[in-house]
Amino acid sequence: MTQPFWKMKTLSQLSKPEWESLCDGCGKCCLIQLEDEDSGMRLHTDVTCRLFNADTCRCGDYTNRKIRVPDCVILDPVNVTQLDWMPRTCAYRLIAEGKDLYDWHPLVSGDPMSVHNAGMSIRNQVVSEDDVTEAEWEDRIVEWPGEGDDDELEDGDLEDEA
Ligand code: SF4
Ligand code: SF4
Repeated sequence: MTQPFWKMKTLSQLSKPEWESLCDGCGKCCLIQLEDEDSGMRLHTDVTCRLFNADTCRCGDYTNRKIRVPDCVILDPVNVTQLDWMPRTCAYRLIAEGKDLYDWHPLVSGDPMSVHNAGMSIRNQVVSEDDVTEAEWEDRIVEWPGEGDDDELEDGDLEDEA
C-alpha cells in the first residue's frame, strides 16, 4: 500500500499544497505565550493574536498575515525545527521530530472537524488580545490538551473522540 505523503517525504520535500494541508487547524500557535521568569518555561494563555478568528480557528487574513502582524512567524522546514514554543501536537513539529500524526489529524481522519471534535483545538475557547489588557494575560494562563508537562504523548496516545 502506498504511504501517505507525510510519511514518504521530509518537510522540505513537500509541495506547497501538501505543506498547507499539514496544518491541523488547532490554532494553538496563534496563542499568546508567557515565559515564567524563574523557570524559563513557556506558558500558554487563552488569548489569541488579534487576527485570529475563533469561529473558524484560522488566521483571519492568512495571505497577508505578515503584513498585518509583523511578529507572526511564517513557518518553514528550517525554522520549525528551531521554534521550541511550537505546540507539542503541531503537525509540523511532529513530522520534523520523526513522529506520526495523531488519529484526529484531518489528513488521517479525512474529516476537517476531527481536530475540534477531539478537543485538540482552541476553537471558540479563546479571547482576542484586543479584548483584554496585557495586565490580564497572567490571569489567563491555561494548559491546553497535549501541551502540559504530564502530556508525554506517544504516537496515537490521543484518541479521536469524534
Ligand atoms: S500549531 Fe501547527 S498544526 Fe496547529 S494551527 Fe499552528 S501550524 Fe497548524
Ligand atoms: S497573524 Fe494569523 S497566523 Fe499569525 S499569529 Fe496572528 S492569527 Fe496566527
